[in-house]
Formats: sequence, structure tokens, C-alpha cells
Amino acid sequence: MRLTSVANRVALLWALSISALHGQTGPNDARAREIYKELIEINTTDTPAGNVTTAAEAMAARLKAAGFPASDVQVLGPDPKKGNLVARWRSTTGERKPILLLAHLDVVEARREDWSFDPFTFLEKDGFFYGRGTSDDKAMAAQFVANLIRLKEEGFTLDRDLILALTADEEGGNFNGVDWLVKNHKALIDAEFAINEGGGGNMRKGKYLTNEIQASEKVFQDFRLEVTNSGGHSSLPVKDNAIYHLAGGLARLATFDFPVQLNEVTRAYFERSAAVQNDQKRAADMRAVGRAVPDAAAAARLSAAVPFYNSLMRTTCVATRLQGGHANNALPQMAGANVNCRILPGVSATSVRDKLVEVLADPQIKVTFVGQANPSKPSPLRPDVMNAVESLTKQMFPGVIVVPVMSTGATDGLYLRNAEIPTYGVDGTFGDMEDVRAHGRDERVGVKQFFEGLEFQYRLIKMLAGRQ
Ligand SMILES: [Zn+2]
Repeated sequence: MRLTSVANRVALLWALSISALHGQTGPNDARAREIYKELIEINTTDTPAGNVTTAAEAMAARLKAAGFPASDVQVLGPDPKKGNLVARWRSTTGERKPILLLAHLDVVEARREDWSFDPFTFLEKDGFFYGRGTSDDKAMAAQFVANLIRLKEEGFTLDRDLILALTADEEGGNFNGVDWLVKNHKALIDAEFAINEGGGGNMRKGKYLTNEIQASEKVFQDFRLEVTNSGGHSSLPVKDNAIYHLAGGLARLATFDFPVQLNEVTRAYFERSAAVQNDQKRAADMRAVGRAVPDAAAAARLSAAVPFYNSLMRTTCVATRLQGGHANNALPQMAGANVNCRILPGVSATSVRDKLVEVLADPQIKVTFVGQANPSKPSPLRPDVMNAVESLTKQMFPGVIVVPVMSTGATDGLYLRNAEIPTYGVDGTFGDMEDVRAHGRDERVGVKQFFEGLEFQYRLIKMLAGRQ
């Protein structure tokens, strides 16, 4: 007991010293803020006004000014406006494979009239940094650049190369930077593993709760459902109607659920999340689905209560668009729908199509692939990464639980994972889980949280790339 209370006190003092450190007074904090501001104020949307290359060049200039040799700092890409920065800090001693630090420079479009402020003017107000990209993903990009410069100045000895990639078109556009680098310059970015967005700290009403490590993503696949019919005059209806066929199939799909299937990452997610639940029944259900054979009743309760839990546990397929008919006074010659599936990693898109055909249960409904799924295999929960994140979280955010997660959406991690580079979403910048503004209006990050994230990434690099 005594030991524990001493440990708690040490942890508290440690936490206080960290928060004192985050009054953005030090030269490193000031520099990080400057880099962050510079990135926010360069429009990197996929629009005529946007240019990712400008941001990549600005970061390249900072690294070169800090002493990184020009030959190891490149801006390259398939389009003049979609340049990617790739920088390598070479180790002179280590033999371990490099670590890749990945962040995307592009941002989702933001229109001045939708926002309370100019989205491309960096604004500090009431304890927050505002601007498009403050959370997705320019905080991380700025933290990486600022920390590499700081470590270089401090004469940090690397035990392995560190690669920084700041890339284009994660949010959309025709020139996805990570995909392009993997296909054209794999050697430049090849690494033992990568640190990326997609994870990070969650808080609720100011209370820090969990720090997520994203190690897996679901797979996106659209299907086209279509019924065709010879049609005719609507004054002479027949039972064989394209709209009725499709509607009947969709009604059957509406009540269908794919089976519950957990993997290493989602099982750990439920087990660990159980510990931070206020509701003890909810916690018991989370533990029950985490077992080797998930408890069906518990899974059903969790699915009904929280859409995110449902999506973690199973492949989902949902109707998202509908079209049909061509005139008010004609029998429909065509009825179609788009069904969007988010497939669990390891499940084949073909098997999902077969299941849809079975559930729709009507041979008149043709089911075809729209585009081709990009499979994404989960990254193993490596002890070096897990242990580093756990011990850092314990140091900086006492009481916060580290939770592995599978994203129900997708990030660029999928291209790296498919290129055999295990990828982890790790981020020490906490955000309010009930106030997510990425892609939305008045996007922001807490000032305190930004500087904590900066320090977290700094220590993480030291732990993972320093002398063993
Ligand atoms: Zn992002």
C-alpha cells in the first residue's frame, strides 16, 4: 500500500512537471507551434486552391536548415501539386531496420462560410488551436518535424534509420502518396514498422480515459444490386415488378447480421475497454464477447447499444443508395441499389458477395462488385511498440488505459500493411470523444493536448529508435 501511494505521488509530481512544461514556453514548443501554424496556413485541399507540394517543400526546407543533408530530404510525387516529402535520418551505428513516421499533409475541403473563422488561418483561442487540419493530420506532421529537429540538435544517437513521410491525397484525390511511394519507391520508405494516425487518446469532459493503438482496419467494398424487367404500362401491372423484387431483397438484408467474429485486436479492445466502463453490466458484456467463444447474448446487447461495437464485431453491409423506374405511368424496367460493406480483415470480398446473394434470396437481383476491395491485414501487436506506448502512457497520463483498436474506416495504413510494413496508429494528442471535428467545421485541438502529444512522440522516438 505504502509503495503504491509513493508511486502515485511520484506519478502525480511527474504529471505536474509535464503540465508545467506545456505552457508553450520552451524553444522546442515555440518551434513546434510555428511549424504547425505554417502547415495549417498552407491550403492542401484537393481543389484548385490547394497544393500539397508547397507544404512538403516548406517542411523539407526546415529539415535542411536543421542540418539534414539535402540528399536525404526529397519531395517527390506523380503530380506537380501532389508532392510527398520523404526524409531519412541515417544511423551510423545501428543495424535494426528503420522506423517510418507517416502523416498526411492533405486536408478535407473547408469553406469559409461554413466556419466561424477562416479555416486556413491558424488561430489560438480559449485553449484551442483552430484551423483545417489541426486534428487531421497536421498536428502529427508538425510534431514529427519538430521532434526530428529537436533530436538532431540534442545530438541524439539513433540505433536505426528514421524515415519521415509526409504525403498527399489520403483524404481523396487521384494521387495517393503512400500508394505511389509503395509502388514506385518502396526502398525509400521500407521499414520494420510504421507509426501513423488512426490511434490516439480519448477524453470525455476533460477526463483522460484511453489511449488507442490502431493495429487493424476494416475493408471497404461496394456492391451494386440490380433488377431489370421488360416493364410496360402501369395501368396493367403484373406481379413481376423490378422495384418489388429489389425491395423484398433489401427488406431481408435489413434484418440480417453477419456473424460475430473477433480477432486479436478487437478481443483486446473489449477486454481492456471493460476496465473503463462506469456501467458494470456493459463491462461484463465486453468481457463476455472477448472470450474464446464470444457470448452471443452479450454481443447482441452491445450491438444494439452502440453502432461502433456492432461494427467492431462483424462485417457490415448496408444499403446506401436507391434508384429505379423511369416514369410515373410506367412499370419499372430497372431498380438498383448500392450496398456498402465494411469487411472484417481476413474475410474475402467474394464470400461476402456469396452471402449477400443468399440473404437477398431472389435470383432476379444481380449482385456485382463496384471497384475492388483493398485487403488490409491486421498488424501483430508487437511487444516493442505495445510496451513503449504502455510505459509512456503510464508516465505521462497516469490512469489511462492503452487499448488496441481496429478502425471501422480506413487510413493509408492499409497500403503499408499490404506492403508488409506493420503499421500502428499511435498518438499522444488527446481529443474529446464526444466532440470530433475532423472533416467538420471549426476543427480544433487543445493547446495543452498538442504539446503533450509533441512530448509523447518525442519520447516514443527515443524509446523505439535509441540505443537498446
Ligand atoms: Zn487523416
